[in-house]
Amino acid sequence: MPIHPERSEAKSRGHNFAKHPEPLGGARGRRREAKWTGATLLLLTALLFASSSFAEDRTIAIRAARMLDVRSGKMVEQPVILVRGEKIERVRGDVPEGAELIDLGDRVILPGFIDVHTHILLQGDATEAEYHFQILREYPSHRVARAVRAMRIALEHGFTTMRDLETEGAGYGDVGLRDAVNEKVIEGPRLQVVGPALSTTGSYPILHFRPDWSFPTGVQLCDGADGCRKAVREQLSYGTDWVKIYANTAGLHLTPDGYVDSPPNWTREEIAAVVNEAHAKGHKVAAHATSDTGLRISVEAGVDSIEHGDSIRPEMAQQMAKKGIYFCPTLTVGAYVAEPRAREGRAIWAEMPKVQAKSMQNARKAGVKIAFGTDAGGFPWTEINQAQEFSHEVRLGMTPLEAIRSATTVAAEMLGWQGKVGEIAPGAFADIVAVSGDPLKDVSVLQKIDFVMKGGDVVRRPADAKR
Ligand SMILES: [Zn+2]
Repeated sequence: MPIHPERSEAKSRGHNFAKHPEPLGGARGRRREAKWTGATLLLLTALLFASSSFAEDRTIAIRAARMLDVRSGKMVEQPVILVRGEKIERVRGDVPEGAELIDLGDRVILPGFIDVHTHILLQGDATEAEYHFQILREYPSHRVARAVRAMRIALEHGFTTMRDLETEGAGYGDVGLRDAVNEKVIEGPRLQVVGPALSTTGSYPILHFRPDWSFPTGVQLCDGADGCRKAVREQLSYGTDWVKIYANTAGLHLTPDGYVDSPPNWTREEIAAVVNEAHAKGHKVAAHATSDTGLRISVEAGVDSIEHGDSIRPEMAQQMAKKGIYFCPTLTVGAYVAEPRAREGRAIWAEMPKVQAKSMQNARKAGVKIAFGTDAGGFPWTEINQAQEFSHEVRLGMTPLEAIRSATTVAAEMLGWQGKVGEIAPGAFADIVAVSGDPLKDVSVLQKIDFVMKGGDVVRRPADAKR
């Protein structure tokens, strides 16, 4: 969660969509091909051919003591998951002749996890100084190199799909990284991306530097309904999946009754223009909304997901549930940034954990769909495992099964990829993880995933996995 509108109380980043591209390749790849030279095409063909020896044509049987069926919530004893190529063929039966066997012993098998709020191009920005370094000084190539490492870390922790929720000054770098993963140029989770988020003039850093100099900004700025409609059209033309807006940023303050408010970043006409234009083009909108006003204007405009949602009153939770708007609480980053930001003199952050807990309660009571989102990148990928979110969700009242569903079936539905990811079922991608211990008793074991398969390719395998 970036957002340091200097000398004000603020947080950062958010997202959403409607029609979803296939997780692999698809129209976007074809669009770019038209511009490529023959030599580039030859190279790509060679790369695709080389990588096809990975998963395609191979049959793998994965055996373990138990598998969590995330839909029924029941454990399946002694499953044998048959993987052919990149997809799951069946989850029961014998090991067929000629299949490669992976025996995971006493482990529990689960679907690969989905984190719907990440920033691969960001490496922790609890303080303003960390944010300024990445936006103002770090070379774009260095940012991309660290993003590649972040994706590898996520994959090794069991996250096989992510919605990456804006690049913070790194332009459309996420679009290229998404495509490079799909083309198997690099390894990483399947991605849906937003490019730069949208916000209005004066609402997002870099701010308050010399007015006669130009500085980069962490978002794309737009003003007025027509200007914002144009910005959405421009962004989608570069191949993004979701549109993300910052509904509010600066001026966070505690209300007398213990919630959080701030001025809005948008007029009603502007935010409606963004949402209507994105929806008209078949894409969804995610809204970073951390205050009463930010949440209200986002919900009224009909966004598809609320990011952070630090201040959700009961009546707003009911509206979110009624409209089917998803809630991504990002509790891991909340826990990470609260103290350093309070120490920087932003007093609201000392209160934030309490308000977040109350908002989670209200959302759960109203039946709002909660999707697993961590804001990884707002905390350093190299220091904190994003799977900590499971424990934070349970700490704030979710059952272990609800927490696991938030990162599998619920997140898949939010992404429009239900049936493809987030479950172990025939026809779904072979995105499979395994762990020792019982995650239905203690979700913290999910921070110790030691087997990961993505699309039929083994990413990580424990030493004791028998062949
Ligand atoms: Zn974020």
